[in-house]
Amino acid sequence: MDRFVIRGEKRCGENSDGTRENKKKSRSISSEGRRVLEEWKNQFAVSERDGEPFCLLCSKILGVCKTYNVKRHFDTTHVTFDKKYPPGSQERTHKITSLEKNAIAEQNTMRASLNVTQAVTLATFKISWLLAKHGKPFTDGELIKNCFLESQCLFNDLSNKSEIIRRIKSLQLSNDTVTRRISEISENLTEQLKSKIATASALSLAADESTDIGDVAQLCIWVRCVDSVTFEVTEDLLALKSLHERTRGEDIHKALSEACRDMNIPASSVVSITTDGAPSMTGKHKGLVAEMQKISPDLLAFHCIVH
Ligand SMILES: [Zn+2]
Repeated sequence: MDRFVIRGEKRCGENSDGTRENKKKSRSISSEGRRVLEEWKNQFAVSERDGEPFCLLCSKILGVCKTYNVKRHFDTTHVTFDKKYPPGSQERTHKITSLEKNAIAEQNTMRASLNVTQAVTLATFKISWLLAKHGKPFTDGELIKNCFLESQCLFNDLSNKSEIIRRIKSLQLSNDTVTRRISEISENLTEQLKSKIATASALSLAADESTDIGDVAQLCIWVRCVDSVTFEVTEDLLALKSLHERTRGEDIHKALSEACRDMNIPASSVVSITTDGAPSMTGKHKGLVAEMQKISPDLLAFHCIVH
């Protein structure tokens, strides 16, 4: 989950970073072999940041790593700097050293605060995940936060207690945030399952239909597949489909086909189906298995051992 959160932060949080990354790509081709030169610091107040020229006067990353471009930026943007701090003077050296010190300190603060933001986001993902796993209402997020705050006596002997409390307070656990986090986790899990299914050359399905407390028939479909390269076995819930009208074999077949379509599973890669043996599943002419065998005659059908 940590990797997922950090990837997500980069994806949805930092537009500017994203643009920079793109720039970096195109630059790495055009400026192959070029590096930030040490003498640029005194000449143009430019130092290196993450391998790129960084203007200490306007805190900008300069596009191209070439003396001509760095000089042009300096000459056009910072016209008065040479007059104020003449080249070779001690004032100039002092000024540039102090600018560089400030830039490094600023960068360190930014990095630290980004790490804290990521940690806080990760914590909200973990709490949302726990709520979903235990079937708790999403509104319990705020309750958990209050539990943390009410237990602050645990940190009384710690010198950084106020910082701990500040971070707990910054946790976003409203109903809406928890809902969003759970939906992001769910989307990510679906994508992971889809990519595992895509690499498997064959897979097995298991289907079971049951009625929930609201008297609605629910079709639960499981998938089992083996990665054709690593031989890693995956067994996961493929879909849960509500059958609002009837629960005949053809209705179940329709719901199952929909689930397969949503997960990009071609009928040809399904080699077996396991059911509970009910007539709607195994009926000779209109049962689910019969419907599936009309499309794939070699499909194997099993009776679930638990049933
Ligand atoms: Zn500048």
